[in-house]
Amino acid sequence: MRTERTRRLPLFFTHPIGSLPRPQMVRDLLVRREEMSADRFGGLLDDCVRFAIHLQELAGLDVVSDGEWRRVQYIREFLLRIGGFERVRRYEHQGETKVTEVVVRRMRDGESVFAADARFLAANTDRVTKFALPSPFLIAVRYWHADYSREAYPTMQHFLDHLADILAREAQALVAAGIDIVQLDDPALTYFCDAALVAGQTHDERLRRAWDIEHELPVAVAALNRIVDGLSAEVHLHCCHSVYKRRSDVSGNYSPLLPRLRELHVDRINLEFAYQGTGELSDLALLPPHLSAGLGVIDVRSECLQSVEQIEQLAAAGAAVIAPERIALNPDCGFAPDAGEPPTIDEAYEKLKRLVAAAQRLRERFASQSPAT
Ligand SMILES: [Zn+2]
Repeated sequence: MRTERTRRLPLFFTHPIGSLPRPQMVRDLLVRREEMSADRFGGLLDDCVRFAIHLQELAGLDVVSDGEWRRVQYIREFLLRIGGFERVRRYEHQGETKVTEVVVRRMRDGESVFAADARFLAANTDRVTKFALPSPFLIAVRYWHADYSREAYPTMQHFLDHLADILAREAQALVAAGIDIVQLDDPALTYFCDAALVAGQTHDERLRRAWDIEHELPVAVAALNRIVDGLSAEVHLHCCHSVYKRRSDVSGNYSPLLPRLRELHVDRINLEFAYQGTGELSDLALLPPHLSAGLGVIDVRSECLQSVEQIEQLAAAGAAVIAPERIALNPDCGFAPDAGEPPTIDEAYEKLKRLVAAAQRLRERFASQSPAT
């Protein structure tokens, strides 16, 4: 639900998806976590996160996050903190053999694992705040495997149900900590948009499974609604095409997905339009009327900088399909869903400044177009 604070956000408000690239010092700190006391580690990261917050404020964003600098990766940090996962599953990814976590024990059902991080963010800015959680469907699809997980959770549905309960409590804790916008990250929903992937052609062995949008999407939506219902915060769903080494793992526009979100109770869907092979602005015509959109108009994958005019033009093309009142502006995805992703923090800062400049121009343009009252 929109809240008093999020309702005051301007037309074409600008918001981050979540992560910012980590400077090398932050990457070193995350690697050396075990070497130092929790107090020392936490204190050093507090200073870094303050910098991440101030950087977004100075760029002019209307909404800020903590840059996710306390996380090694947007999902893995949750797995580490909640427990029950072990790196035992070998799989092939772009020709490399890797080992990934799967769930092997029941997850802990205790206190919130992100509330302290959220409190720190809310206490260190006056801007509207956003905090992202990985979605239950995404985690269920990636981290339940019949060979390893059956003792803990007999089926993926059992795992999904427990995840939805834990994440619902986590979301409540974020709101109690003062967070204005809770975002659920679910790039797994975008898999349904990739015809080749759905047909089994992928370089990521983990994604070689039966993708059945008719049966699985309602299950994913029900799990999301268990988190959203009763939550007194604005809720976003983020559906991107994955970011990996300055490329996308997935392609396809949103036409298979958007019409099937009629029963979803979130406020806004954050989508990608800047990078090649992602969304097409005409997809927005398929957005169910109760949903607003976050338009990804900044390419986070390529190094090249779009001009302010190009960003403005992309967003204006979206405003030709749905009303400007339903539009917010964001980068396509977080700049670094994994702490090791390559963009520099200076590149992200420059791109965010251009996003803000484009939003300002759009506000002027659409204010002069609206009839005088
Ligand atoms: Zn993303």
